[in-house]
Amino acid sequence: MKILLASSEVFPFSKTGGLADMVGALARALANAGHEARVITPLYRGIREKFPALRKVDWYFNLPLGRQYVPAELWELDVARGLKIYFIDQPGYFDRAGIYQENNFSYADNAERYIFFSKCVVHLARYLAWRADVIHVHDWQVALVPALVMQQKSEGWGNPPPTCLTIHNLAYQGVFSGSAFELTNLPKYFFNTEGAEFFGFLNCLKAGIAFADFITTVSPRYAREITTEEFGCGLDGMLRRRQKDMTGILNGVDYSEWNTTKNAYLSKPYSAGRMAGKKINKLELQRQFALPVDETIPLFGTISRLADQKGVDIQLGALAEMLNTKMQFVLLGSGSPEYERGYRDLARHFPGKVAVRFGYDETLAHQIEAGCDFFLMPSRFEPCGLNQMYSLRYGTIPIVRATGGLDDSVVDWTQNPRLATGIKFTEYTSRALAKAIRKALVLHSQPKLLNACRKNAMKADFSWEKTVHEYLAVYMKYKSERTKY
Ligand code: ADP
Repeated sequence: MKILLASSEVFPFSKTGGLADMVGALARALANAGHEARVITPLYRGIREKFPALRKVDWYFNLPLGRQYVPAELWELDVARGLKIYFIDQPGYFDRAGIYQENNFSYADNAERYIFFSKCVVHLARYLAWRADVIHVHDWQVALVPALVMQQKSEGWGNPPPTCLTIHNLAYQGVFSGSAFELTNLPKYFFNTEGAEFFGFLNCLKAGIAFADFITTVSPRYAREITTEEFGCGLDGMLRRRQKDMTGILNGVDYSEWNTTKNAYLSKPYSAGRMAGKKINKLELQRQFALPVDETIPLFGTISRLADQKGVDIQLGALAEMLNTKMQFVLLGSGSPEYERGYRDLARHFPGKVAVRFGYDETLAHQIEAGCDFFLMPSRFEPCGLNQMYSLRYGTIPIVRATGGLDDSVVDWTQNPRLATGIKFTEYTSRALAKAIRKALVLHSQPKLLNACRKNAMKADFSWEKTVHEYLAVYMKYKSERTKY
């Protein structure tokens, strides 16, 4: 099949979170499975310097955006057999220090930037000599694409391919003032309660839910959750109406990036059969964070965006309760200044036990995954979550709240000790998390059980080779029987 993917971030070219990992890995997995994948993404600052093999395509376009016309150029990179990336070059919009924001302030023209990007996606889909069988867009930034495709169909695009929207996180919907709808140049009838309008505002994700031929989200449990009022972020009614065209597919892991045997970031390789290297990584991590270097102290870690979703409040509470016991905690995170302050205070209260690093650091992320004994992920909600799956492969027991993809990917120790890969808790409270940490300490004190759990975790297989077929099955289904509107 020929699949055209579009995303505002794609690893290794740009990344703020799991979206980039997922799109980069899915595209590669499609190509590895013998299909043709092409990905469209913005040309952000620094990409050309980091990837000098990028080639300029002899194709300029000038697309309407409300009352103005905005020009753009196109670059491309052949990554592997069957995998090409297109980069939209519009320096005014994308040659900036950040992707969506700077200094914790979203860019004021994000509506303009991503509506324009969405228009570029549709333009390429329509006029590339290479004709896609399906257009697969990711998250709100490109969620207007299905509506734009429908509009072009009525303007002479004979038989456009079906569109698929993947919701990576329903909490981010791309909501802008109603006047931003003008930038889409869509007819007014797209802007109503069954379409792009949300209480007078433009809601890009809602438009995608309304007009995509089919919708996927990144875990089966999250697909069920978002049809409820509790998790629906105001769109549960709409999602229930689209339920028959919606499915949840758990994200895979790119094990060529995230592994413990061939990984330049780690001090020492290790595997389920040869665990000695994990200890070396732990000692090195303690050294790096200036904590007492001692193999016997249980070491907990977290790598996270510091946002409400990630359960920072209950984590701070639980750690404050538990840190009087023999344990250490390291954090790599960035986000809300208030949460950063919370962790800084925690480190001040527990010197020699807590160490924190703020910022974005891919290398350190691998080192924390490898060096820790336990990984804490107490999310309030979690569409899929990748870090718990990376932790599993790194033999670092995840402690997760049973929600969304966390519930789908971890087997709880008390539920099934023989097959356990981690520790789960349900209630969203510091007390419940503290109890889970206590269980972890018990597990740590019983090396036989700990090793069995580690082995199970490291053997768990979330590779894209398994998952990609689920995407191919839905692509195929909608290619052959297009939903009619
Ligand atoms: P989300 O997409 O909600 O942020 P995921 O667990 O799905 O959460 O994916 C997070 C990805 O971002 C992982 O690859 C994780 O390692 C990475 N990440 C998050 N914060 C940081 C950070 N401060 N430094 C390096 N990597 C980070």
